[in-house]
Parts: sequence; C-alpha cells; structure tokens
Amino acid sequence: MTQELYNPYVTAQTQFDNVADQIGLDEGIRALLRQPSREYHFTIPVKMDDGTTRVFNAYRVQHNDARGPAKGGIRFHPEETVDTIRALSMWMTWKCAVVDIPLGGGKGGIVCDPRELSLNEQEKLCRGYVRQLAKNMGPVLDVPAPDVMSNSQHMLWMLDEYETIFGGHYPGAITGKPVGMGGSLGRTEATGYGVIYNLREALKTLNIDIATTTASFQGFGNVAEYAARLYAKMGGKVIAISCWDNQDKKSYTFRKLSGLDIEQMAQIKDSFGTIDKQKAQELGCEVLGGDEWIAQDVDIILPCALENQITPTTFAKMSDQVKVICEGANGPTTPDCDELIKAKGIYLVPDFLCNAGGVTCSYFEQVQCNMNYFWSKEEVLEKLDFRMTSAFHAVHQLSQDKGLYMRDAAYVIAINRVAEAVKLRGWV
Ligand code: GLU
Repeated sequence: MTQELYNPYVTAQTQFDNVADQIGLDEGIRALLRQPSREYHFTIPVKMDDGTTRVFNAYRVQHNDARGPAKGGIRFHPEETVDTIRALSMWMTWKCAVVDIPLGGGKGGIVCDPRELSLNEQEKLCRGYVRQLAKNMGPVLDVPAPDVMSNSQHMLWMLDEYETIFGGHYPGAITGKPVGMGGSLGRTEATGYGVIYNLREALKTLNIDIATTTASFQGFGNVAEYAARLYAKMGGKVIAISCWDNQDKKSYTFRKLSGLDIEQMAQIKDSFGTIDKQKAQELGCEVLGGDEWIAQDVDIILPCALENQITPTTFAKMSDQVKVICEGANGPTTPDCDELIKAKGIYLVPDFLCNAGGVTCSYFEQVQCNMNYFWSKEEVLEKLDFRMTSAFHAVHQLSQDKGLYMRDAAYVIAINRVAEAVKLRGWV
C-alpha cells in the first residue's frame, strides 16, 4: 500500500476546498473551517510494569464546535500523527452535521501500541490522557469516544479520572462506555450497522437485491465485524476479509468463495481484529496477500480499516464487477482516486455519512445519560436506522438533483449546516 505518499490532512482540506469552490463559500467561513479551531499537544509519562518510565505523545484536536461540543474518538496507534488527527477532527464536524446531531468535530490520539502494553499500563495511559486534557474536555466542551484500538474499558478509566478530578458524576463527558456504566445498548454494533443501513438504501436506489450480492471487507475490527454480521443477516455473501496480523507485521486476506461464516470468523479473531491464520485454514479459508481484498470479483467493497487504502494503484486492481464502495473507515480513499471512481460510475457511500452510526449512537448515549433512563437495544437501533436512512436519502437526493458525486453532496449538506451555525453565532 502507498500510505506514506498521502497526508490525510491534505486530503481533508482538498475535499473541503473543492466543495467550497463549488458552492462559492464565503472567504471568512472557508478560512475558519479549513483548519481546526484548537489543538492540544501533550506528553503522558507512564510508570511501566518493569519500573521504567515511558513518555507517550498525545493530541486532542477540536475542529469546530459551532453546532455543539466537539465530539470524536481517541485513537491508539503507533504511527499516529497530528495531521491524521487534524483530518479526522474535520471529518467529525462533517459527520455530525450530515446526520444533523447537535455536536461539533474533534479527535484525539495517543502514539502507542496497546497490543504491547499491559492492562495496568493502558489504564495509566488513559488516566494520564485525561489529567492533561481535563480542563479542556467535558460534556459541554469536548466529548471523547472509542476509535481505532481503544475500547469501552479505556473510556471508563478516562471517565473515572475525569470524575475524580471534578468530584461528581459526569456521564456525558465520554461516550462508548460499557453498558451498565452509562453506555448505550447497541453502541458496539452501531458503526457497522450504520454502514449496512447505508448500503441497504444504496442498493435499493440501484434496484439491486442485497441477497444476490457479494462483498469484500478490509479490516475485521469493531466496524467491519458488525457490518459483516448485519450484511450476512440480510442475505449478502462475504467472500473475503483482510486484516492486520500483528505477529507477522503484515496483513492477509481470508477468502472463501462459498461465503465466510462471520460468526465463526469472529470467534477466531483477537480483540484488535486479527484473525488466527491456522484456525481460518482449518475452517476452509484460503489465506492470500493483504492487498487481495480489493481485487476480488464482488459487487461491494467495504474498506473498514485505516486511511489511504483506495489509491489509483490499488484501484487499478479492483474488479469491474464492483458496483458500490461503502467507506466504513475514515478517509480510506485518496482524492486522486475519487476521479477514477466517478469515471467508472461506481456508487460511493462516503465515509462521514457511511460510518456516522457510531457517533449517532454516542449522541443517543448522551441523551440517555442526561435522562438517566436507558432504552432497549431495539429502540436504540430503530432510532439509529431512522437517522442513518434519512441522512442517506438527503445526500442521495441532492446528488441526483444536482448531478453531484455522493461525497460532494454529503459535503454540501454538512458544510452548509456548519456555515449557517457560524454565521448565526456571529463568528463570521
Ligand atoms: N470514533 C467514531 C468515529 O470516528 C465515533 C466517535 C464518537 O462516537 O464520538 O466516528
């Protein structure tokens, strides 16, 4: 993969600039929205189990909070960069706006590899992050959530530190908490399910019966797992899943032409989404190279891992059979590849619409915490489906009416909502 050639922040700004040009966005609003409002860069010293001290670098970036408190996950990744976090914070602003929830955009990251840290060390890292950021986060300022390699336990340690510092219960300070500790039922499934609600609606508009389709996934973390589960439940056939192998430091594609059993695959993966090669072979999977996921003869491609995975180079390997790309990951497609997708007439469900189910459910979690009354899983998922379906159709309709690429249509709706908020507030 050609990841190092692309900077996600440049991608996010290029996408924004293109649409700002198309809609003739006011210069002041453009200058405000093409970069984050605030950034915090800090260090977290952690006393490791072996008695040494390690210092981790961490960030929190708040892109825009005109529509509500900044909102977005905290990623744990050894190759995390501040530019990636900047891009992700921008995409959070558009994500919350396109599904019309009263939140802004933020994102955080810690440069670390949780796979190499003990639970004790992870807890210290989470608490250290909150100690550094406490005065600049919280229910009315900026609300973190899980993201790549962070989970509900991390969120609860962070919340506990926040509540210890401020001396009270503030369940709205963090979302993605464990169920029973202020978390919402359905939050685990929400991002992946949201991807498939979008796919279901996209296929309807294309007059394709989901039960006749095949798909290939990149990634088998939380997003891909639940997307694959729901897709299979709706009758789709998952042919391939690619995932990172932390032992071999490379990725593999697991393929079964007769269709993978997602339940079985989920049972042989670890908590970071790595599938056990040997067990997969015992289940009859072929184990192919990491890039093979994109080259499969399938109808639907779902990148659900990291940024910069669909580039002109990888796109050249994509089968002519592919009709739909659903971006479960944030920023998986590079801007130069958007042109190729458009030219080939592939239907794209863009990332900040496609994967907005997670933050939408985070918003439901905040609402339930505020009421101190929790809904059933069915109620949560029904509300989630309604929001995602409405957002999808608003974007699809605009794209049809104005002949816009789906990514641009989603941007037009999101940018206009945020532009309206900054104008109404008198910021510009
Ligand atoms: N990390 C998820 C995302 O990228 C969820 C963010 C949230 O729930 O605040 O959308």
